Amino acid sequence: MLDKIKQLIAEISGFSAQTPEEVEQFRIKHLSKKGIIALLFEDFKNVPVEQKKDIGKALNDLKTAAQTKINDLKEQLCDADSGASGTDLMLPGDPLKLGSRHPLSIVRNEILSIFDKLGFTISEGPEIEDDWHNFSALNFPEEHPARDMQDTFFIEKHPDIVLHTHTSSVQVRDMETHQLPIRLVTPGRVFRNEAISARAHCIFHQIEALYIDENVSFADLKQTLTYFAKELFGPDTQIRLRPSYFPFTEPSAEMDVSCTLCHGKGCNVCKGTGWLEILGCGMVDPNVLELNGIDKEKYTGFALGMGIERITMLKFGIKDLRLFFENDLRFLEQFAAVV
Ligand SMILES: [Zn+2]
Repeated sequence: MLDKIKQLIAEISGFSAQTPEEVEQFRIKHLSKKGIIALLFEDFKNVPVEQKKDIGKALNDLKTAAQTKINDLKEQLCDADSGASGTDLMLPGDPLKLGSRHPLSIVRNEILSIFDKLGFTISEGPEIEDDWHNFSALNFPEEHPARDMQDTFFIEKHPDIVLHTHTSSVQVRDMETHQLPIRLVTPGRVFRNEAISARAHCIFHQIEALYIDENVSFADLKQTLTYFAKELFGPDTQIRLRPSYFPFTEPSAEMDVSCTLCHGKGCNVCKGTGWLEILGCGMVDPNVLELNGIDKEKYTGFALGMGIERITMLKFGIKDLRLFFENDLRFLEQFAAVV
């Protein structure tokens, strides 16, 4: 029996394990109620009295050796798990993957920096608006058909609370609170109840500019537009103005720029015309000045507004507006090199 115990101690000291399961199997084999050591203790009852002292000590040594081995193995496996051993801590770390700016942010920042050079400061306001700031103060009388130009998302009716349909609502808040003269750009998200397609979405981004001071004329507007177009699309860019209608400007115009692709010769993008429609603009309607408590005899102003999606599509040759909102990394990562 003593020989068997010594043999087991040798076996135990040579044992090694790679997984917790192997350690558990080892424990069951040796230290469970019906394990090898328990059976030896059972046999110990039959050992002659003169051998009991030696064999008893050897049995206790065997049990201690098995328990110590299990504890050691568990500790080793735990260390391997936490990387404290077997891991080269001197290896360089995994590189952090840098994100890229969204194309709409790239173009918005570019537009804002052009207006910054002209002395316009940025103003932002709430996306949820009351009827006064979104419509009435901008010369949209109630029941006026011009309200149908913008399909509106209503949050509450009577009194009406809406998701603002243009950032002009922010300009109304600026006219209320700012000292004259006013020279502001208002970037923001706007909402219109339109069917989603490659060319339209119910959410889009706008930048509007507003300049109110004494003696602001249409010539100032045209010069601002010319400078803006050349800065954004290149020094060879031409502009043209076509008469239009907006409730809050009089006279109103839409501005085209010479096609960025064919430079006026005519191509698919400009549908053969050589011109691309970019923005709406005009002189602030005296009614709007009056509605907002500004002396319309003393002050005049101009306003202009554009959709950032449209300009981004033209600048980067993007054909489907929906790509801007899908968060597809294969699309977004293409703009990583553009700042
Ligand atoms: Zn063209």
